[in-house]
Amino acid sequence: MRRLQYLDYGQNKDRCLHVVLSDRAYASILSEVMKNGDNETGGVLLGTIYKNIWYVVESVDPGLVTTNTQDFFRWDAEYVNHLLDKLCPIYRFMISIVGFWHRHPGSMDFFSSTDENTIRSNLKNSKYGLLSMLVNIDPKLRMTFYYCWQETLTRVKYDVGDEYFPVELLEYAKPDGIAEKNGIPESKRFEILPNKVYSSARFPKTVFPGKKPQGANPDTEQPAAQMENYRETIDRLQKENTELKNAAAERNAEKQALEEEIKNLKATIDELREEDKVSQRPDEIQVLSTAEEAADHNDDPPKEMCPSGTEIAGAAPETAEKETVSEETEPADNETLNEESEPADNGSDSEENASE
Ligand SMILES: [Zn+2]
Repeated sequence: MRRLQYLDYGQNKDRCLHVVLSDRAYASILSEVMKNGDNETGGVLLGTIYKNIWYVVESVDPGLVTTNTQDFFRWDAEYVNHLLDKLCPIYRFMISIVGFWHRHPGSMDFFSSTDENTIRSNLKNSKYGLLSMLVNIDPKLRMTFYYCWQETLTRVKYDVGDEYFPVELLEYAKPDGIAEKNGIPESKRFEILPNKVYSSARFPKTVFPGKKPQGANPDTEQPAAQMENYRETIDRLQKENTELKNAAAERNAEKQALEEEIKNLKATIDELREEDKVSQRPDEIQVLSTAEEAADHNDDPPKEMCPSGTEIAGAAPETAEKETVSEETEPADNETLNEESEPADNGSDSEENASE
């Protein structure tokens, strides 16, 4: 089999200018290397390409069914694709397999013919080419990145650190993005309660007492870095402000709904009271009518002369207890009642009521 061709940097620069590793990806690689001692191991690089810079967000372990020999390494495609499925939805931007890496013995920082076969077969599934990175410990750990494209390999440089990333590429997805990437239709999505109580400014920025968090000392920082920090702080505060406003609006809406409910309940109580009153009224009126009647028969006093009914009580002492209610009954109602046949019944009713 013909060997792959090594190109100088610049000959392929339109496709991959540089590689940037996130702090997390870097830590994962170190951990995997350290854990395996002198044995070969490797991993799969997940990330995004932006303006011909290849950003590696994650390095995942090679999985359960792997081939690791002195000069050959193959990852468990099923496992890696499974992890990709799980990790992709949590990032705001789409991540995909951008390459792979493996440990090489000694100072061998180029590929074996078996490696090249693996690269060739992996390239068949990639549209933009792939990264292949080698880790050597000779005796210091170093990494060599190659950009693989068609039949060529180009050595590219790299940087490590989240600060090299456009911020969005490391951001996590919002609920809508997570739903979208998991293929959840609009009809099956749910609202999420706000989950911020305090401003993050209230919480410690470092667990090391007396030590200022990184980026907090303006004396030792470059102006550009300072600006960047301020901008980040402003962005963060603005975001928090918006979130707090949204939460406040939500609480306000809840408050209004509760007030509305209280109003409705009060109205219901009033209605029930009114119904209660109406159902009691005929008896009362019947009882009262005798008293009113008695009063009427007396001197027919003007209303203002008989405000409480106590004077009337004097005229008809046996119904005195009922008189206090008389104010509520309108004279018109009373007049419509039968004056002739009722009084006999009324007397017994009034006694029953009085005894209750
Ligand atoms: Zn190899």
